[in-house]
Amino acid sequence: MVPSAFCDRLTAVGQTLERRENLRVLQINLGRLCNMRCSHCHVGAGPDQGATQMPHAVVQQCIDALDRLRPQCLDLTGGAPEMHLSFRELVGAAWARDIPVIDRCNLTILLVPGYRDLPQWLGDHHVEVVASLPHWSQHRSDKQRGDGTWEKSLEGLRRLRAAGYGRGDPQRQLTLMTNPDGDRLQPLCDKVTDEWRQALAQYGVTFDRLIGLTNMPIARFRDWLIEQERLERYEKTLQDSFNPCAVQGLMCRDTLSVAPNGQLYDCDFNQMLDMPLPGLTIAHVMPHHLAGRTILTGNHCFGCTAGQGSSCAGATNH
Ligand code: SF4
Ligand code: SF4
Repeated sequence: MVPSAFCDRLTAVGQTLERRENLRVLQINLGRLCNMRCSHCHVGAGPDQGATQMPHAVVQQCIDALDRLRPQCLDLTGGAPEMHLSFRELVGAAWARDIPVIDRCNLTILLVPGYRDLPQWLGDHHVEVVASLPHWSQHRSDKQRGDGTWEKSLEGLRRLRAAGYGRGDPQRQLTLMTNPDGDRLQPLCDKVTDEWRQALAQYGVTFDRLIGLTNMPIARFRDWLIEQERLERYEKTLQDSFNPCAVQGLMCRDTLSVAPNGQLYDCDFNQMLDMPLPGLTIAHVMPHHLAGRTILTGNHCFGCTAGQGSSCAGATNH
């Protein structure tokens, strides 16, 4: 582990961070091509990132790895993962192996020609959609994702609903993922979820679950913090909000993140910070290479342990 204030804090509370024996989630980053360019994006995605897409040879290595690693879930992310030419091939490969799939969907992609059949297609393959929507209000959502994107996102949600999503069907699960605007933490509770349900119901939108992700001070969001001269204050907020109870549930314990070039990481954030698992690629990794391995951490990890804790599956301190 790289020495850092985060390591010191873990030591102070008597915790260590190692990978668990079983792999729960294989998360594949298919590249940074996206139809949007959000201000809080921690991967720096956008419409001009076509050159970053995962080559097909690596996609095939990921499919082969499903048989060796037997993850409980395949999690497809990007960019907009649906824009990758092999997106449906990967979903089909997991479907054939009875491995559940998560599609991290930005919603607006569902309105783009060439992708409009996706709600039905995803439903037919029982894919869980984890859809990013910063906030239920138009103003707060558009502030992060750009003018007009809230309207398009809601239309995407209505199309998902028409395909059976967000109605309590376990084979068509719709999870909304929110993140705070700017440098605030966002504690989620049942009251907030109820507020979202009531607000979105007016627009014909329903969902199964609401989860929250803390903004990580890396990539485009870090640039914004620097520009606003708020980086130091935000990093201090995250450190001051360290919650030892959030450590056990950190996603890096049982998630493996795959980069478009096949390099492996403990999580998507480490991928963006170029902190790979030395000597391992998706082409050759075996379960025993991962079990018990020390997780690579840095001070960005305070973003995952602040308050309720934060991960791609929401709070880590339930
Ligand atoms: S946050 Fe999501 S939708 Fe927005 S630019 Fe990044 S990958 Fe695309
Ligand atoms: S950023 Fe979060 S998920 Fe990644 S290694 Fe640090 S604590 Fe784990």
